[in-house]
Amino acid sequence: MSALNQVLLHPQQRVGADFAAWRAAGGGEGLRAALGATPAQLIEMIRDAGLRGLGGSGYPAYRKWESLAAQRASGDRYLIVNGNEDEPGTFKDRILLAETPHQVIEGAAICAVACDINHIVFYINPDQDAALASMRDAVVQWQDSDLYTALAEHLRRPVELRVMASSGHYIGGEETAAIESVEGKFPFPRRKPPYPAEAGVHGLPTLVNNTETLANVPHIMRNGVAWYRGLGRGAAAGTKIYCLSGDVLRPGAYELPMGTPLQELIFEHGGGMLVGMKLKAIFTGGPSNTILTPADLDVPLDFDSVAERRSALGTGAMIVVSEGTGIVKRVTEYVNFFADNSCGQCPACKTGTYYISRLLSRIDTGHGSRSDLDTLVSLSQLLPGAGRCHLLDGAVKVLDSSLYHFGSEYEKAIAPRNNR
Ligand code: SF4
Repeated sequence: MSALNQVLLHPQQRVGADFAAWRAAGGGEGLRAALGATPAQLIEMIRDAGLRGLGGSGYPAYRKWESLAAQRASGDRYLIVNGNEDEPGTFKDRILLAETPHQVIEGAAICAVACDINHIVFYINPDQDAALASMRDAVVQWQDSDLYTALAEHLRRPVELRVMASSGHYIGGEETAAIESVEGKFPFPRRKPPYPAEAGVHGLPTLVNNTETLANVPHIMRNGVAWYRGLGRGAAAGTKIYCLSGDVLRPGAYELPMGTPLQELIFEHGGGMLVGMKLKAIFTGGPSNTILTPADLDVPLDFDSVAERRSALGTGAMIVVSEGTGIVKRVTEYVNFFADNSCGQCPACKTGTYYISRLLSRIDTGHGSRSDLDTLVSLSQLLPGAGRCHLLDGAVKVLDSSLYHFGSEYEKAIAPRNNR
């Protein structure tokens, strides 16, 4: 497992499951502060801090909290802390769960205060043994603590803290699929609406938040909105854990100011390209996102700035590839990943990902034709939005982005047979 490097926000929290050490480092102060505020004030703080959904959506975090808090039904409510994290190139949540479990629980507890939640499920990828063990250990310590007592007294009911191994399917990270999983079923994504805030686990109001998002919350409560906003660069707020991998000297998870330029991430923190290699492209956010090129090295890595470059920050994964890497081959591998992980509910996704994968393989192995390439272009325009969840859009996005930036490689691959 990669360690967390260059930490700004989480260093004093990296004590594993040692509850006493975490308290000695100021752990729990965020929750204590939250217990003295109203739910509306807490949600306002999350809004003013500019906290975004750090699992990939970039959606303002307060909006989901607000939707849940606005539900009128009294009774049970769920929070799923999403640590399914199964996308190639993304490896941040597992580190937070293993190395800083108490701050994740504290963030979830503050969310519970803001939204009157009494069931918290830590939903963790089953392959992440260290994360599961650390969280199980941490939860046991929480249940015996003064913090837990204060939380339950504040909410006037017991709060369930449950650590659950997810099914291990990539698609299980989608929020409605996570809800199905928590109900004990196969993680088939559901149609929306109804949204989880209206009808989630067992039909009850439910909030699904990413692990990294919640890990930021105690710090906002403890140090204030202005402090958190000031951590970011430019208009961006807070920090982001960027997962750097591929052809760089020092791959790893780097927590840096949100809005750190791509150039700085790769060439300063990551040590630059492997000896003798030249930068060709960066797959952002993992395979379900898009491509940046050397012309984008100046882009600040925040949700809005990356979106302006016809790309997306996603989970913050940056997979660096060098000259000599075949883009068609790499995209074929990513689309195969999506085809393998389609749950099969939507015909457009089941057949579309498989068909794209076949066409790409043909082109990559020198057996593609002009008509294959034309079909790929048509599919990249027809398929977006045809699936129930983001998986199909992810497969099309990486294809579309590669056609846009590296169309000449596709042309070259079909050149010997382009008369058909
Ligand atoms: Fe399943 Fe694909 Fe439909 Fe998502 S888009 S629900 S993965 S078939």
